[in-house]
Amino acid sequence: MKILLLGASGSIGTQTRDVILKHHDKYQVVGVSLGSKDIVKQIISEFPEIESIYLTDGGLAKKYQERYPHVAFYSEQEGIETFITNADYDMMVNALSGFFGLLPSILALKSDKKLALANKESIVCGGDLLKPLLTKGKGVIYPIDSEHSAICRCLKAEPDNIKKVWLTTSGGALYSLSEEELDKVTPAQALKHPNWNMGKLITAESALMVNKAYEVAEACFLFNFEPTQIEVVVDKASFVHSAIEYSDGHIRAYTHKPSMEQPIEFALEECESIDPNYETKTYSQASLKLEPLDEESYPLFRYFESIIHFGSVFGTVFNASVETLIQSFLEKHIKYTDITAIIEYLFQNMPKNPMKVTNYEQLLEIDHKVRDRVKEVINKW
Ligand code: NDP
Ligand code: MG
Repeated sequence: MKILLLGASGSIGTQTRDVILKHHDKYQVVGVSLGSKDIVKQIISEFPEIESIYLTDGGLAKKYQERYPHVAFYSEQEGIETFITNADYDMMVNALSGFFGLLPSILALKSDKKLALANKESIVCGGDLLKPLLTKGKGVIYPIDSEHSAICRCLKAEPDNIKKVWLTTSGGALYSLSEEELDKVTPAQALKHPNWNMGKLITAESALMVNKAYEVAEACFLFNFEPTQIEVVVDKASFVHSAIEYSDGHIRAYTHKPSMEQPIEFALEECESIDPNYETKTYSQASLKLEPLDEESYPLFRYFESIIHFGSVFGTVFNASVETLIQSFLEKHIKYTDITAIIEYLFQNMPKNPMKVTNYEQLLEIDHKVRDRVKEVINKW
């Protein structure tokens, strides 16, 4: 299978390369996108079959084009869109972070490709645009997010009579800190996740429980659950990757030590397993030792309701605010607790009705405008 790997230099991207290198007979990497990290030489030696590479830096792309004439280099100048539409691939692995990942997901589904999706912002910001592409086209999404991968395994093993979905969280880097402690949290503390080694944005989003808000929306989008069917519960060890409770009371779960290798492998396998139980097992509720989430400690968690209810325009506004505020916190312009305070200030007047979105350009414009507006608020805060 021919793979187009976007975000090959990041946490998921690097682990995807490792998985593909283990099964290089089955997968060929025909193209990768890189951001600021220059690992072109390493990529070409890992994947000699590669046909095209996207880099943000145009100067660097020109330099490498001369050194490697058999590979087509693209950069910001031509845009990621040209790189994707010119590529000949079967499956896109979207391991980009943030809103930037949305356009590639749209392009993949528009051309009826398989999409192994880590970039949850694609769904939060662009679900309204992706849904019709999935219903009308032949494109399909395979989740890489570990919770959704686990839910997918459980559903494949046992699809009917579902009572509830137990979506797990570790609690993030700042679990059980007091308000006074949170007020003094440094970027280094917020970025020190107990179980996972992930990119900066998602690690900070996990500490704020924004990541879990996104994951509830992602689960509803991918599996057509009602939000009321999902219960977020704490498993501090990240051993239970999510579970489903069935009408007769039994629970099916996918348990594993924290690692993204299994979800990545499962997505590349198009979420099919030779094991009829999809490596899931049944458990009693007590044996899983899942604790309820203290929602009061995470005021941003409940925004999942608005993301689901109001749709992609709201998701884009919310996500652009979160991305801008996290960036500002990591650059030490605002305190950790300011992130929540500014979001609550910005969203005190909620929209009345869902807003319709017709195309990607509309969301891109909203994303840019919101970032500028949030920066103005930060400057005056
Ligand atoms: P990273 O920050 O580690 O990697 C992001 C990748 O995207 C990098 O290759 C980066 O390039 C690239 N990138 C980001 N912005 C741009 C841009 N503007 N132009 C070009 N390239 C860009 O993130 P993660 O791998 O941790 O996460 C990726 C996605 O997967 C996120 O949506 C996250 O929420 C989701 N996810 C991650 C999990 C994890 O365990 N890490 C688990 C579940 C979901 P470069 O670094 O070279 O600048
Ligand atoms: Mg997850």
